[in-house]
Amino acid sequence: MIDSIAKTPRMAKHLLRDGMMKGRKLMTKMAAQSMLSEFWDGNLPVNPAVIARAAGIAVRQDPELGTAVGRIQYEGGLACIDVHPDTSALRQRFVIAHELGHFMLHGGARFVDVEQELEPIQLDIRERQANLFALELLIPSFAVEILIYKRKIFSLEKLRTMFGVTDKALHYKLRRLGWLP
Ligand SMILES: [Zn+2]
Repeated sequence: MIDSIAKTPRMAKHLLRDGMMKGRKLMTKMAAQSMLSEFWDGNLPVNPAVIARAAGIAVRQDPELGTAVGRIQYEGGLACIDVHPDTSALRQRFVIAHELGHFMLHGGARFVDVEQELEPIQLDIRERQANLFALELLIPSFAVEILIYKRKIFSLEKLRTMFGVTDKALHYKLRRLGWLP
């Protein structure tokens, strides 16, 4: 009897936490979708630098970033995203999208990101959110549905090129959407 009482609040806590996590993920995706609806011209691949500039955010290359691949900071009220020029063009797109995630979700905080922070497994929830945001910005869920359902594009290579992302990012996104096991 005591055991069953003790279990109830624990379970409720789990449910609450799961619900909050789902809510946060949804909010993150919606933030990316709202940025797309406001600043995207509708062409693939999505160009995160063009979106950033349309939103009034400076995007620059900074060789002084050292071991970091990207950074967002605020200079005189202006948001500035810096990417390391030695990073591949494909990676730079993801870095900019990731920093845009920080911009949209983490109100004015400065972030300096190293390569590991762009990996799917993150302990820091803000890094996970920025990655989820970047995935939705570069690979909009509705665009995946249109390309696969309506345009019958099943080639991963073709999708990868159309979205301008790495294999890893595409696989991750398609798994999340249930298209890949
Ligand atoms: Zn980050």
